[in-house]
Amino acid sequence: MYVKTLTMKGFKSFASATSFKLEPGITCVVGPNGSGKSNVVDALAWVMGEQGAKTLRGGKMEDVIFAGTAGRPPLGRAEVSLTIDNTDGALPIDYTEVTIRRTMFRNGGSEYAINGTPCRLLDVQELLSDSGIGREMHVIVGQGQLDTILRATPEERRGFIEEAAGVLKHRKRKERALRK
Ligand code: ATP
Ligand code: MG
Repeated sequence: MYVKTLTMKGFKSFASATSFKLEPGITCVVGPNGSGKSNVVDALAWVMGEQGAKTLRGGKMEDVIFAGTAGRPPLGRAEVSLTIDNTDGALPIDYTEVTIRRTMFRNGGSEYAINGTPCRLLDVQELLSDSGIGREMHVIVGQGQLDTILRATPEERRGFIEEAAGVLKHRKRKERALRK
């Protein structure tokens, strides 16, 4: 499993549609300060369902939508698509290629789709959590995050391990079922 394509449109500084085509292995993003390198990482977290505005380095969720520049008006929506190669079947879905899309409008919430079919955030989370890419986004290690792990309580640390092992999904399902 590897990321094949990441496309951003109206997301942060990427006003026009911008696509990155990736190969298996390591990818480096280089560029001057403020050119949008971290925005690419934010897009990755966002399309996978990130719900925390702070994690996305903003004050509110709408801050991910292109806010306009001197020569370009703000946009009304942000859209990010992530295409994952699934020929090894790491994602529990019967497709060799999986595209997750998230769209957000300035006046409303987010819409999600898997391979073009609208779905819930929960579906995206469950699809990814089986592969160890979880809701808590521990696959993305941001600056200062190592500190968080080192300072975690035993319960939080257990959560990291459960997420990595893919059992967190089942615990969340059990919690949801018990609440009903
Ligand atoms: P550094 O090397 O300093 O870490 P970087 O390449 O990681 O820089 P980013 O933090 O990704 O840079 O990008 C910052 C830029 O993105 C800023 O110029 C900021 O104005 C712009 N930006 C962030 N959010 C938006 C938005 N909603 N609309 C337009 N531009 C935005
Ligand atoms: Mg940066």
